[in-house]
Amino acid sequence: MTERQPTPRDIARAIDRDEFHLAYQPQVEVTSGRLCGVEVLARWRHPRLGVVPPSIFVPVAEQTRLIDRLTEWIVRTALQQATEWRDARLEISIAINISPANLTFFELPDLLTDLCAKFEVPPQQLTIEITEGTAQHMVSLMDNLSRFRLKGMKVSLDDFGTGYSSIARLHQLPFSEIKIDQSFVSDIHRSRDSRAVTKAIIELAHALDMTSLGEGVESQEALDVLAELGCDKAQGHYIGRPMAGDELLRWAQSRPSFP
Ligand code: C2E
Ligand code: MG
Ligand code: MG
Ligand code: MG
Repeated sequence: MTERQPTPRDIARAIDRDEFHLAYQPQVEVTSGRLCGVEVLARWRHPRLGVVPPSIFVPVAEQTRLIDRLTEWIVRTALQQATEWRDARLEISIAINISPANLTFFELPDLLTDLCAKFEVPPQQLTIEITEGTAQHMVSLMDNLSRFRLKGMKVSLDDFGTGYSSIARLHQLPFSEIKIDQSFVSDIHRSRDSRAVTKAIIELAHALDMTSLGEGVESQEALDVLAELGCDKAQGHYIGRPMAGDELLRWAQSRPSFP
């Protein structure tokens, strides 16, 4: 792979050669600052090209069933990490991004349940993030999404505000959380529109018994506005960047609210 796009074969080889690794970004409670979870973000460290971002390799993996292999590898690796954190008295929720393509892999909820059992991590500790852009798929795949909930996992609607999901249908979908897209959150302290949209999303989430999480918090000012609007959780570079598993543990231990 040089200038060209990676092919599915490049990705299959990269999984076999252990070129993928995971970064973990903290998610905190807005009022207490307590660490409540991490979002798992996949990275590909290519021997020549350096770090390839998910925006490049996820769409390629989605073209074939390779996305299922990749997702399985990601969940397995994240659960292994969760057991290491647990040994250090850190028990937090683990949010995994899944593609709409994964939703047509009907066995995925069972597979994740089996992996949770293997690593002795309760399914309640897993959150499945799915982006709002795929809401049309989601209506048809609602049953599959519900099966994650039936297994005890949480389901989070990612990047909310950027797609076209029907607000009228939201209450029929099995979400436990809405993530407010970073395009609103990052300038929430400067833009009246962003603030108004964020406020409405938080109220919508609460009216439907869901939690709200603001992503892309890049300043204390933005975090202050989320607190004022009653947002439950927050995530972003200002709070903590995506980091390696051992680094995340040190980060957590250095906080006054640990464990
Ligand atoms: P996402 O799920 O919305 O993840 C958040 C993205 O925002 C991450 O980018 C994260 O590094 C970045 N971010 C976090 N805090 C800030 C901030 O304060 N400011 C800014 N500007 N950015 C921030 P990343 O890691 O490049 O991931 C991009 C997208 O790729 C993710 O968006 C997700 O949709 C997808 N993705 C990442 N890992 C996976 C994966 O394992 N599987 C699948 N299917 N998709 C993944
Ligand atoms: Mg996400
Ligand atoms: Mg997001
Ligand atoms: Mg995003």
